[in-house]
Amino acid sequence: MSAHISNDTPALRHDWRREELLALFDLPLPELLHRAASVHRRHFDPAEVQVSTLLSVKTGGCPEDCAYCPQAQRYDTGVNAQKLMSTEQVLAKAQQAKAAGASRFCMGAAWRSPKDRDIPKVAEMIREVKALGLETCATLGMLSSEHAHALKDAGLDYYNHNLDTAPEFYGDIIHTREYQDRLDTLGHVRDAGMKTCCGGIVGMGESREQRAGLLQALANLPAHPDSVPINRLVQVAGTPLHGTAELDPFEFVRTIAVARIAMPKSMVRLSAGREGMSDELQALCFLAGANSIFYGEKLLTTGNPDTGRDQALFARLGLRPMAVQVENSHDHHRTDAPGSGTVHADITASAPLRGRAA
Ligand code: SF4
Repeated sequence: MSAHISNDTPALRHDWRREELLALFDLPLPELLHRAASVHRRHFDPAEVQVSTLLSVKTGGCPEDCAYCPQAQRYDTGVNAQKLMSTEQVLAKAQQAKAAGASRFCMGAAWRSPKDRDIPKVAEMIREVKALGLETCATLGMLSSEHAHALKDAGLDYYNHNLDTAPEFYGDIIHTREYQDRLDTLGHVRDAGMKTCCGGIVGMGESREQRAGLLQALANLPAHPDSVPINRLVQVAGTPLHGTAELDPFEFVRTIAVARIAMPKSMVRLSAGREGMSDELQALCFLAGANSIFYGEKLLTTGNPDTGRDQALFARLGLRPMAVQVENSHDHHRTDAPGSGTVHADITASAPLRGRAA
């Protein structure tokens, strides 16, 4: 379907101004969708959706205080802390994910940052998962330069670390680390030669200007994230954000569309919060340029659409999963990208999505 994809495209921009992004948000929805869909077609086949599976390899007990997160140990959310899974357990889940049609397998650990002793264990998981022919992604918290290089050496393709929200709203959500800490981790990931997966969460009580601010921060990074997970807050009882006013679904669609326009070549992922979306809302998001989802029945403590519903939706919309593009260490000419969201997911037995996923 490469007929949709043109090489005659404007250069990627890293100088987006807040007013420009707000002006896009302010467009009539049909005009905004048209612009976003046009950008989408220049770079991607709009019938293809990249499918990732996320597994929580270490759940709960996190010392951080992210106000949306049920894994923070300081909030009483009913999440039981679990130790790091064994490589064998992870491998079994990865095999299951591959059989279900996932092209990328993301491993998430609820850490502030990994300790030195954790790195060899995670590196072993990465090597084993990669040997299955899956792309690998990890989200382990803040990374030092040394740890980033060690994970890269183990074969890690992508690292997820979200900016979460606009710089000026960040202090309302997290107090245990700074925005700059996040930027530093992303710099270490890029410097180590890995691809970045970086997005945020909307519906946390931020303003439209702050949603534009998140997208501005993402688009003006030194390199656009290869993947941009846009999470819609899943309100979990016991977290400080439980009870926040719900975001208008059309505002979520607008956020997806502006992300697509600002970061034309990135994979824009529907992540947490998809279970609460109607099929029609998800379809609007695909029209707005979303081209990646998490696939699986459970996003850690919060639900994800069951696999049967996803299969039916793909069939009704004529979508198919994007094939995995396995990269060797000397091939830097890929066009697709990474995976993960803010919450960590678990998978259960699931039937394969139809299509040509590896
Ligand atoms: S989002 Fe990550 S860092 Fe923040 S509390 Fe949850 S697990 Fe910890």
